[in-house]
Amino acid sequence: MTATAAATLPALDAQALRADFPALQQTVHGRPLVYLDSAASSQTPRRVLDALLGYYENDRSNVHRGVHELSQRATDKYESARIRLQRFLNASGPEEIVWTRGTTESINLVAATWGRANVRAGDDVIISAMEHHSNIVPWQVLCQEKGANLRIIPMSHAGELRLSELDRLLSGRPRIVAVTQVSNALGTVNPVREIAERAHAAGAVCLVDGAQAAPHLQVDVRALGCDFFALSGHKMCGPTGIGALYARRALLEEMPPYQTGGDMISSVRFEKTVYNELPYRFEAGTPMIAGAIAMGAAVDYLENVGMERIAAHEADLLHHGTERLCAIRGLRLIGTARDKASVLSFEVEGAHPADLGTLLDRQGIALRVGHHCAEPVMRFYGVAATTRASLAFYNTRSDLDALGAAIETAKEILA
Ligand code: PLP
Repeated sequence: MTATAAATLPALDAQALRADFPALQQTVHGRPLVYLDSAASSQTPRRVLDALLGYYENDRSNVHRGVHELSQRATDKYESARIRLQRFLNASGPEEIVWTRGTTESINLVAATWGRANVRAGDDVIISAMEHHSNIVPWQVLCQEKGANLRIIPMSHAGELRLSELDRLLSGRPRIVAVTQVSNALGTVNPVREIAERAHAAGAVCLVDGAQAAPHLQVDVRALGCDFFALSGHKMCGPTGIGALYARRALLEEMPPYQTGGDMISSVRFEKTVYNELPYRFEAGTPMIAGAIAMGAAVDYLENVGMERIAAHEADLLHHGTERLCAIRGLRLIGTARDKASVLSFEVEGAHPADLGTLLDRQGIALRVGHHCAEPVMRFYGVAATTRASLAFYNTRSDLDALGAAIETAKEILA
């Protein structure tokens, strides 16, 4: 979003929204909790908790199987959540939304089904230098199995993809380009629309890892032009254990099933099984019913707050946080792309990330230290780990001021 567009929106009242999140009301080590770890997992608003509990208290039963009232209610709510997610992503129809356990399972599903059916020896699978392990390892395994080549779009020191290299990478036998929209380790927002367009022009399909995009940016899978989009509920105010894969209907129709068993069939004979229609063909067994229902509530919640307002608020926080952190002597930001979202990764001279994280925790600041499941990114910058503050719309500028002050205190202790 442009700065002008953001400025015309009524500002989001993060302080008021915080009241919706029970976990944000606590103190940690005697200090008010400053939660800056939403890239790992966001917090959950009361409305989502109510939806989870509501299923267990009132509608607990299996879906798609019962004629009785409870099963009908559970099925209606489960399918209604799918439709809400479809609209949230602007997919063409609910059959393009497959419930999964999260981004990791969504990508594994694509690699194991579309990948096994379409990637052959000598083909190229293209990913980028800033992928999360869950968008590396499934492709590595596929390439090993098929004798295909894993190709990497390089990045600059600022943490921007070198897209000038893409044409060269696409000049072989590309089958799929799988890239993250927002890097969890650096915060870089990648131009996935352009990447999808260029992938298609070269005859490849495009998968977008949307784990860090869906909670922060307005996502329109049709406008992006991607073929697959993977997301995780627990990063977007939903429960753990639920996520989704968006896949273009035409591709899903051709893909072999992922897991097999109950629910994914329309008829079973010992001689032959006929698979169910979309998207059930990809949802074998009893699904995460409560999780999906609560995910519908999470999507409603995000839409009520407004994705454009969320993006504008977080852009302001990112700007404020960047200035505050850069004022600290010896602090180096890792990831300085021009287009960034929600992540401040850094290292502090003389402070081991693990020590820093522990000292920050003692001051009530929850953030992440480590390789963030992106070891190739760490290797690129020559560090073993970074300290990462990650934002959500319920954060305020004062959270970032508290972070800045706590880092300064930690530095004094470690000096
Ligand atoms: N991709 C990105 C960019 C992520 O940040 C994450 C989680 O941090 C994942 C994939 C994996 O998500 P999940 O563990 O929810 O499957």
